[in-house]
Amino acid sequence: MFVQEATPSLNELNHRKLFDKAPYIGALFDLFLPNHCLICAQTLEAGKILCETCLNKLQALTPTGTYKNSSSIEKIYFYDYYDSPLTELIKSYKYGPHKSLERFLAYFLSLLLSYWELNGTIIPVPSHIASIRSRGFSSVENIVECCRKTFRQDLEMLPIIRRKGNYIPQASLADQNLRKENAKQSYIIVESEIPEQIIIVDDIMTSGNTLEAVASLIKSKGTDCQITGVVFVKRGR
Ligand SMILES: [Zn+2]
Repeated sequence: MFVQEATPSLNELNHRKLFDKAPYIGALFDLFLPNHCLICAQTLEAGKILCETCLNKLQALTPTGTYKNSSSIEKIYFYDYYDSPLTELIKSYKYGPHKSLERFLAYFLSLLLSYWELNGTIIPVPSHIASIRSRGFSSVENIVECCRKTFRQDLEMLPIIRRKGNYIPQASLADQNLRKENAKQSYIIVESEIPEQIIIVDDIMTSGNTLEAVASLIKSKGTDCQITGVVFVKRGR
């Protein structure tokens, strides 16, 4: 299998649209507000989002990772491990927060789906309500929606998983069983008809507890459905 080019390409995505229409604004920004790469903070010419170095590192990625260790999920597909430039991209997108980076992640999602020829209805893992409030968007839902608009009009998204209000960060729990239980308690499913083929999408997979909790919640409503998982990066080799 080979990695197809998606359209628009990474290079095309790297232009801030505003500057194409009004290049003089770019010149003004250069004077008063130096532009920086949103991953490595290197100084950049106006109108660009990422530097050449970061862009080349991202361009070199292929979605060849697969992982299977779950009773509810057939297989999990991913690009890379946690020390990846993709992790830096995700962090900058979420914690910057830089919503303009959603299209880069949408690009990588579309490449992965076509590389593995994955078909199914996408159920995104939702952000916690507190994160949505503070950054203004639900990170994975946003990526999937951007992917649908920009690359794959045929994609169907069914946002039927919700985060519960009370929230204990997974990272604060050292015990493996507590983390599993916490993940299970963190989500609810909205009443809906469950499609036969489902792709759960999340950004970073740590222990797999979140994907497993969401998958078993879906299976409790649609016992015959087939579920695959897609993440950008996975912790632990
Ligand atoms: Zn950079």
